[in-house]
Amino acid sequence: MPDDAPTASSDLQFGRAQKVIPGGVNSPVRAFKAVGGVPRFIARAQGPYLVDIEGHSYIDLICSWGAMLLGHADAEITALLGQAAQQGISYGVPTVVEVDMAEQISSMMPSMEMIRMVNSGTEATMSALRLARAQLGRAKIVKFIGCYHGHSDCLLANAGSGMLTLSIAASPGVPPEMIKDTHSLTFNASDQLSDFFKRYGDQTAAVIVEPIAGNMNCVPAQKEFLQTARALCTKYGALLIFDEVMTGFRVARGGAQAHYGIRPDLTCLGKVIGGGLAVGAFGGRRNIMQKLAPSGEVYQAGTLSGNPITMALGLHILRRLDDDMIYADLHQCSTGFARRLEQMAAEAGLQLSAAAQGGMLGLYWGLSSPPRNYDEVSQMDLALFKRLFHQLLKQGVHLPPSAYEAAFLSLAHTSEVMQEMEDRFAAAFAVAANAS
Ligand code: PLP
Repeated sequence: MPDDAPTASSDLQFGRAQKVIPGGVNSPVRAFKAVGGVPRFIARAQGPYLVDIEGHSYIDLICSWGAMLLGHADAEITALLGQAAQQGISYGVPTVVEVDMAEQISSMMPSMEMIRMVNSGTEATMSALRLARAQLGRAKIVKFIGCYHGHSDCLLANAGSGMLTLSIAASPGVPPEMIKDTHSLTFNASDQLSDFFKRYGDQTAAVIVEPIAGNMNCVPAQKEFLQTARALCTKYGALLIFDEVMTGFRVARGGAQAHYGIRPDLTCLGKVIGGGLAVGAFGGRRNIMQKLAPSGEVYQAGTLSGNPITMALGLHILRRLDDDMIYADLHQCSTGFARRLEQMAAEAGLQLSAAAQGGMLGLYWGLSSPPRNYDEVSQMDLALFKRLFHQLLKQGVHLPPSAYEAAFLSLAHTSEVMQEMEDRFAAAFAVAANAS
């Protein structure tokens, strides 16, 4: 583009983007398709705030889809990044910090006796499933409708996140044989899972589940449901995989598995452990993990896996988060906010229920109580969400641009910021109520 063209307009940049990037974005939900309008192009971020290229500031409820638990541009993190980069950016050979990182994860999440670092959540779940299938010599996997586990072929069936946002049940390009052994069951339906195991338990390699589903809004599993999954997997010799890419170190110091007191066989991580850099990890029982190449025959590899800068950042973040009190405070903050939003919406004559766990927040537009599965989530009032999404943008609050995504808080969302956000929600509720 010519040097003198105005660049400070999201409209203009989205126009440019759509010519060279499919849909103008590098990940589907960012495109505002579910809410209409033009996505804001962000110039910088600080603490709990995003600032767009036109200079508008927003309280950030996306937090890079959960990755930024410490908030943006944290001073210690940015200093550490600079120092780490000066030692070289990537070597592709072993480093001490990879061992430190694996030990740190393992100490905070003891079910992860051995860990392999990868570069995304998608890689983590894909590799964990390959390992599970290899371990047991079985093909079938169980997932739950509305849960999203990344975009590898065998997991793109009835998935949440962008698939739900864009109403895509299955992706073209995935041959039916790739998903013929993927069984999608109802989240929180223990009886259905028991029936499935009665018929196919001896052919099932794994059950993969988001213990708090964050890709169909935010729907916590009932404890009894996860206990049933644990018991069935143990009885039939299948592996229980917790996809904690979103919940890991975001909902509790030891992840959702600590919150529920349930030990999975394998766990997948991402997001928070990279602090905004590309990352993923999977791990679990030693006897299973040792089947991975080079100690075993199950192949899995990555040029940039365990990158020294990502590991230095992740290690620093996890050491800072290694304190139950941080999560107790975060939970108090998020649940208090959820309660007040419910009250404020009711006072404005709007139907909204809300719930939170640690740094994850569910806002259920038009529902009188929190949903338990995708069918209940799909009863949300999407027109109400759309109106409020745009009102909130005007007031300076950036929600995820889809009703099917959880919202995220960070430790930089202090009580002052939360108060400021409440005032902005109140103003948006008042306008939306008058417009309805
Ligand atoms: N699993 C869960 C629960 C997720 O929320 C996501 C992404 O949002 C993934 C897996 C995929 O992770 P990534 O986008 O890093 O590939």
